[in-house]
Amino acid sequence: MIPIAKPAIGREEIDAVVSALKSGVLAQGGRAEEFELAFAQFIGAKYAVAVSSGTAALHLALLSHAIGAGDEVITTPFTFVATANSILLAGARPVFADIEDHYFSIAPDSIRRKISSRTKAIIPVHLYGHPVDMKAIIDLAQEHGLVIIEDACQAHGATFNNQKVGSFSTGCFSFYPTKNMTTGEGGMITTNSEDITQRARMIRNHGFSQRYSCEILGSNMRMNELSAALGLAQLLKLPASNQKRQDNAAYLSQKLSGIRGIELPKVKQGCQHVFHQYTIRVTEESKISRDELSRILKEKGIGYGIYYPIPIHKQPFYRKLGYDDVLPVAEKIAQQVISLPIHPGVTRQELGIIAKVMKEVLQ
Ligand SMILES: *Cc1c(COP(=O)(O)O)cnc(C)c1O
Repeated sequence: MIPIAKPAIGREEIDAVVSALKSGVLAQGGRAEEFELAFAQFIGAKYAVAVSSGTAALHLALLSHAIGAGDEVITTPFTFVATANSILLAGARPVFADIEDHYFSIAPDSIRRKISSRTKAIIPVHLYGHPVDMKAIIDLAQEHGLVIIEDACQAHGATFNNQKVGSFSTGCFSFYPTKNMTTGEGGMITTNSEDITQRARMIRNHGFSQRYSCEILGSNMRMNELSAALGLAQLLKLPASNQKRQDNAAYLSQKLSGIRGIELPKVKQGCQHVFHQYTIRVTEESKISRDELSRILKEKGIGYGIYYPIPIHKQPFYRKLGYDDVLPVAEKIAQQVISLPIHPGVTRQELGIIAKVMKEVLQ
């Protein structure tokens, strides 16, 4: 069985976590702060705030920007549901824009059509590790006075015009075990704003400015010390591990090129894709359907993923809320995508097997 994702945990990670355990300080010690400094430096942002998950990072970023009741936030429907759920959790209303055909990211012309007097922010998602064209998003945001919150939960280390995602505005990262680096569960906000950092730190910890003085509404969204220790060790390995993903993706693309009925991942000019997922499209010209392909892959012991089968505006809960948008590109692509394993643990030999099976069934 070749799994679709597998966290790479080595001696360094185990030693770091054991040492955190032995220190006796399991929460609110120095490791979370150390991880924040290292992560901010890696991303090229002035500040970072470590939290308990990627979802908490998005929720906290919205709260820190004072986005809530009566506000609209434009985002993509073709993402993990956490992106839109955090907007609802903050009390604001998600508004969905359609996506671009080949890069799966939010389409600037569709955003423009969705801007209203209530729009406060845009959340672009660097889906699968492919950066969004941030120039187009920044131009729109400046023109309309909007906040940008980057959902970089799948894109640790990806760059647009040589600048790392998460450093263009307020960035949100996840360290869930399937992501490019992990802390078990965990997340991070990155920003250049001292104000946002201060608000985020307060809201993360019950609205305290000093101990037990609750000045604004907050919660517990802190990262524990074991996670931070794990994160520090994983961060050191991230560049090499992203490189391995890129090499695996290039190798697989070379092996799969020329097969009719599938579209291989494309990388936009000026972008460094970090291949959180290697996602192909099974198009109308394919001999077999995506579901048939999935069934065969499963039978052959090849892990795969469908991210994401239902666009958010079509999710049962969102239908109940009254969402009835028609977003043709997102709806079509949700029926065509399938991701294949290229994580750092996948060998050349395994990539060869994947390519062989794909050729057998599609050619
Ligand atoms: C993983 C992910 C999240 C949520 O992160 P968690 O750590 O699972 O809470 C949000 N957005 C996207 C795009 C993700 O992939």
